[in-house]
Amino acid sequence: MKISVVVPSFNEEGNIPEIVNQLTLRLAKYDSYEIIFVDDGSSDQSLTLLEKFHTSDRRVNYISLSRNFGHQNALKAGLDFASGDCIVSMDADLQHPPEMIDQLIEKWLQGYDIVYTKRMVDKKLSFFKRKSSSLFYKLINFLSDTKIEDGTADFRLVDKSVLSVFSNMKENDLFIRGLMKWVGFKQFCIEYYPNTRFSGTSKYSVAKMFKFALKGITSFSVKPLYLSTLLGSFISLLAFGYGIYALCIGLFTDRAVSGWSSVIISVLFIGGLQLMMMGIIGEYIGKLFMQAKGRPQYIIRKKSF
Ligand code: UDP
Ligand code: MG
Repeated sequence: MKISVVVPSFNEEGNIPEIVNQLTLRLAKYDSYEIIFVDDGSSDQSLTLLEKFHTSDRRVNYISLSRNFGHQNALKAGLDFASGDCIVSMDADLQHPPEMIDQLIEKWLQGYDIVYTKRMVDKKLSFFKRKSSSLFYKLINFLSDTKIEDGTADFRLVDKSVLSVFSNMKENDLFIRGLMKWVGFKQFCIEYYPNTRFSGTSKYSVAKMFKFALKGITSFSVKPLYLSTLLGSFISLLAFGYGIYALCIGLFTDRAVSGWSSVIISVLFIGGLQLMMMGIIGEYIGKLFMQAKGRPQYIIRKKSF
């Protein structure tokens, strides 16, 4: 039985020695294991550190990407190269407690194919992160057919049979937590309280979080398009009603020139609405465009195996 642990990391030099230390300690009791760090185009000393760890312990491996491809693509790279019977993915900042690996493995041994985790609401996380995260899950669950529980991040164990399905997915805009729900299989959820970041600051800026949320929604649902149609029809209906009213005023009264404000309001309102809907449609066309180019999800510059 071989266990793989995949850790995407971006500028985490302060965390790498600690997570390597904790993981090797936890994994020592299993017959065979590998740790794969995916260096997502870090500009700090991460790669030098990883090379050093690899020379002293061949079970610590790394894949270094040619630039920053983002957390999801980095994770995909690691999963593509993992050769274990089960594969655990976790963050490099120790927010995902390494001691939980035992629990994940235990459930896997009981026959579950995917053992995922759910972050409990915790005061250690910033108010903004908690609120934005819960709003995001509410929105994605309203808009998408694939339901994703609040607080499920990329800290999970998957069986190699799940991974073989997953490796064949060539989706450009990866949203792995959604895909892992979508594939089905026998799943089990473990709840946990996250630790605070061991060192450094979050690598997810607000802009990155917004992009990630948009990606999640548009990758799993075309409901925004449907809602646009619905809203468009509703507004047209209102406009039709107002049209009849305006006609009546013009025909039966002498107040016809008044009403400039209502005209300008409706022009601006409908103009804004149309722009928004074009944006939504554009988002999907953009996805088609990127996918049609068929570029790889990541490019490897150097790897240890
Ligand atoms: N990460 C990455 N590429 C990126 C951004 C983040 O590989 O472009 C990694 C990061 O090093 C960490 C994990 O993804 O191991 C989660 O990121 P972070 O802890 O910064 O996010 P947060 O916990 O604040 O949501
Ligand atoms: Mg983190």
